[in-house]
Amino acid sequence: MTLQIDTPIQFLKGVGPRLGDRLGLRGILTVKDLIEYYPRAYEDRRAAMCISELQKDQEVSLVAEMVKISSIRLGQTPRRMTEVIVADATGRVRLKFFRVPFKGYFERFRSGSKVRVIGKVIEYRGQLEFHHPDIYPVGENDSQQDELTPIYSEIEGLSQAKIKSLAIQALEKMAVDERQKMEVLPQWLIEKYELLSRHQALRELHDPPLSQAPQFLQMRAKAQQRIIFEELFLFQMMIELKKSDLAQESGLSLISEGRWVDQLKEGLPFRLTSDQLKAIDEITTDLKQSRPMHRLLQGDVGSGKTLVAFFSALSAIEAGSQVAIMVPTEILAEQHYKTALSFFSKLPISIAILLGSQKESERQDCLRGISTGVVQFIIGTHALIQETVQFKNLGLVVIDEQHRFGVMQRLRLKNKGLAPHFLLMTATPIPRTLALTVYGDLDVSTIKEKPPGRSNVVTKKVFESQRDKVLDFIDGQLQKQQQIYFVYPLVAESEGLALKNAQEQAVILQRRFASFKVGLLHGQMKYDEKELIMKQFREGSLQILVSTTVIEVGVDVPTATVMVIENAERFGLSQLHQLRGRVGRGSGQSYCFPILGQAFSQDALKRIDTFANTEDGFAIAEVDLQMRGPGEFLGVRQSGLPGFKMADLLRDQDILESARLAAQELVKTDPQGWKYRSGC
Ligand code: ADP
Ligand code: MG
Repeated sequence: MTLQIDTPIQFLKGVGPRLGDRLGLRGILTVKDLIEYYPRAYEDRRAAMCISELQKDQEVSLVAEMVKISSIRLGQTPRRMTEVIVADATGRVRLKFFRVPFKGYFERFRSGSKVRVIGKVIEYRGQLEFHHPDIYPVGENDSQQDELTPIYSEIEGLSQAKIKSLAIQALEKMAVDERQKMEVLPQWLIEKYELLSRHQALRELHDPPLSQAPQFLQMRAKAQQRIIFEELFLFQMMIELKKSDLAQESGLSLISEGRWVDQLKEGLPFRLTSDQLKAIDEITTDLKQSRPMHRLLQGDVGSGKTLVAFFSALSAIEAGSQVAIMVPTEILAEQHYKTALSFFSKLPISIAILLGSQKESERQDCLRGISTGVVQFIIGTHALIQETVQFKNLGLVVIDEQHRFGVMQRLRLKNKGLAPHFLLMTATPIPRTLALTVYGDLDVSTIKEKPPGRSNVVTKKVFESQRDKVLDFIDGQLQKQQQIYFVYPLVAESEGLALKNAQEQAVILQRRFASFKVGLLHGQMKYDEKELIMKQFREGSLQILVSTTVIEVGVDVPTATVMVIENAERFGLSQLHQLRGRVGRGSGQSYCFPILGQAFSQDALKRIDTFANTEDGFAIAEVDLQMRGPGEFLGVRQSGLPGFKMADLLRDQDILESARLAAQELVKTDPQGWKYRSGC
């Protein structure tokens, strides 16, 4: 019989009820599911690896002998990992599994039996090892397999060869018109970009021609490129369609005379930078349109984004609407609230703060004010997106440090107004290609220049053995009335982790700097306590603030000039840069000391060197992206990036660019894009 794309897999030859169940457990129910079970890698068996030649970050395959399998407890926790040691004539290597892939997975092996190991070589504490590689017994028929072999994620009870042969069978028996129906790209596009048909591409993925071995191994074969293109194209279609929907959405046009804005600009103790003025101008122009604004304001830490947000808020309020600012931490909400109170003190504007940990009576007052419209400017944490919060006429939503929020959180706040204008702010600038991808639906304003009079922050990498010198240096700074931050990766001691913690160090530092006052701040403290400590530090009655990364975002105390980051190897590049951004906010010379702990990897060292050598947030973001990859960089959960099966945003930037152009072209000719809506 011929097969259709939605034929259940039981109709394939060789698939009985048992096998059907096993495939079903992996979500493979139909022909479509099976042929889209793409190989996760390819192996060229003509070039088998041996253990002594392994190199960090390589994707490899090797045949070795099982030496030992043991189950090991992780620190003091009840969790366990399985450690497998394999060896060949040239050496031995460790494989680590933090979960068991399926029941009986390890029981299949005996010591001395031959296994194939496929995975990525990782360096951990100076040793090469594998984490969660695929391992499977090398059977007799293994040697009869082709020289270029697809490698699938393992399915219990099915050999690699079986998965491959089923997929090929499904593709070959597929009815001819069905082969055309499975195509998702329009014909003109396939021709224009010289792509393989979908059927042909899948065929080659499961049965790669040996002549293309080098291309397959590098994900550069035509079959792979076709599927990558398809994934990226559908993704770009989603963005383009969203964009064209937004263009049709209608919102409030907020028109004000701008008198309050002018009045406040004149009252400022300093001049706005030209980038700030330009951003304010772009935003106020957007606010006047009846199409809701969707704008990203990006600017390095300390570039003065808050003021831009306040001026934008002011125009919206003057035009008669409410404005909400959402921030990721209570400390930052409190700080913005204080700034707003003094900033707007000469204007008849009612401002409120809404936090999760507020007293119930205060909360109720605040909620009432918001729903009746008495409160015009609301600053809050994610408490703002709870259902109890009802706005009277929300016209503008500002989200500060937007990368800290999930996409859903952003949307929920957005849905509270009819279709409010929307301003996102971030200090983690995103490289252009990625910005286009992720924020294809946003306009972007950028602040490049810093306010005048700021000197650079002197950054010096410090090893644990040189730590005393830093403390001596701080003695001198304290004498000069400067204030100091110490940041730690942990709040309190944690078993199994040899890291310094804020609680303990606060006591030790107080002893070391006995004639000065040391305060402790961390996320687990009560709101009132946090507020008190911040107040004391701001006013200078505390000279040293010991903290965790709760101060990473937004905190603005211009008199603090030294930032010490302990166990700096534990922090990511962007995070380090954010922490450094807490100093250098006044006119005094500022310093940042990332101190490396006792043990650190080569990667960490490289990271700290990059950090010490550049102060440009955009450059740092580029490197961070390269080191961590887009998923990690943006936090996959938060970025709203779809999980691609084959595409990789960093590796496939060229394909991404063509896919973007293709999507734009298609949306122009078919603005409804009805055919692709369901697929996205
Ligand atoms: P970020 O962009 O990191 O959010 P902030 O908005 O916190 O930066 O601004 C950092 C500091 O710079 C604040 O103390 C702010 O008052 C000050 N500032 C902002 N704009 C200017 C300016 N044009 N001239 C001088 N100082 C400024
Ligand atoms: Mg800020």
